[in-house]
Amino acid sequence: MPSDTSEPSPVAIFKRRESEVRSYCRSFNAVFKSAAGAQLCDEDGNSYIDFLSGCSSLNYGHNDPDMKAALIAHIAGDGLAHGLDLHTGAKAGFLEAFERHILKPRSMDHRVMFTGPTGANAVEAALKLARKVTGRTNVIAFTNGFHGMTLGALSATGNGYHRGAAGVTLNGVTRMPFDGYFGDGTDTAEYLAAMLADKSGGIDAPAAILLETVQGEGGLNAARPEWVRRIAELAKAHGALLIIDDIQAGCGRCGTFFSFEEMGVVPDIVTMAKSVSGFGLPMALMLVRERHDVFGPAEHNGTFRGNTHAFVTARVAIEKFWADDAFQKALAVKADVLSAALADVAALIPGARLKGRGLMQGVDVGSGELASQICGRAVDQGLIIETSGSEDQVVKVLAPLTTPEEIFNKGLSILTDSARRAMDATRQAAE
Ligand SMILES: *Cc1c(COP(=O)(O)O)cnc(C)c1O
Repeated sequence: MPSDTSEPSPVAIFKRRESEVRSYCRSFNAVFKSAAGAQLCDEDGNSYIDFLSGCSSLNYGHNDPDMKAALIAHIAGDGLAHGLDLHTGAKAGFLEAFERHILKPRSMDHRVMFTGPTGANAVEAALKLARKVTGRTNVIAFTNGFHGMTLGALSATGNGYHRGAAGVTLNGVTRMPFDGYFGDGTDTAEYLAAMLADKSGGIDAPAAILLETVQGEGGLNAARPEWVRRIAELAKAHGALLIIDDIQAGCGRCGTFFSFEEMGVVPDIVTMAKSVSGFGLPMALMLVRERHDVFGPAEHNGTFRGNTHAFVTARVAIEKFWADDAFQKALAVKADVLSAALADVAALIPGARLKGRGLMQGVDVGSGELASQICGRAVDQGLIIETSGSEDQVVKVLAPLTTPEEIFNKGLSILTDSARRAMDATRQAAE
């Protein structure tokens, strides 16, 4: 027998046939079978608490019963599955709910542009649109920013490993230091202001300034509201569009529907994906201020802009969670519980720092090695959790926003215990 078929492991097929590019799955020997709420089950019947949530694509948990029922009814009634961008009742239902519960209460005049169903495609569309609106090429993006893997979005992404795979020169972007990049003593917005104001600063007039208010992949660096406001002012003063990439930080992850809501800024463009469908279905969009909505018909196109199943669940998500402020209030309570638990974790680790905000928080434990040991120990105890940051040094909690209190506390106690054990092991190894 060839050796590659004799491997008894249930993950043998993946090792044998799935590309080496696979990543998250490498942390598990399990094959997952089902999921509900904040928990997954594998084929052997083990259950896991999910503190990853599809990287914030499952903010409302797995298989929300109301979204599931609406989707099943849609399919059972022969509702369209794919509709290009045809008018469908499902799309109307989503747009009406989004207008009524999200845009209008926030006084946003933005139009909704559906893009291809990945976050990267929404970012591509945003960059193209900003360049079209301004007639300029250059885009300002920030250190540790993450915007996706296609060439335009990758140009704006900081991570060297991902950039290295581009195979061509990534251009059209000027990199600037994010808030806090040089520590508390340097205001990087003023640094950008000075460079833009200097006619010999060497920065071409920008079409856009692109940022995440909390850098999801980049290590949970949370920008201060006053920094974001200053960046918004600079964008306006220099004729650039402000693009907020809310793909990971939006849909309630930071405690409000949009991550920038309480900052007093109105982005010209907002990109959304990940949790916008509510159910983990592929769906992406961008919000564009009415006056900048200048693409001609099909000028940015995509076959899967009409993922009708996603419209059905996205509508339920908006109506169920965002029609009043009960959910948002519950998020504030949960965020405080999370901060307190992570402070306990940080207290176990010399030099550790708390990162992020809302339900997008974590602990910078100082090294990727330690972070990976903590997450590995957590998985052994049934908690799925991942790292982020330039050295993967931040243990990052992205639990479903709907995680019941008891499961949330259990997950947090596994995390604390894993950190304690990892620290004990590190100390023993040093002796
Ligand atoms: C995940 C992510 C993207 C890319 O989305 P994909 O669906 O993976 O293409 C872009 N920006 C941010 C902030 C993200 O977190």
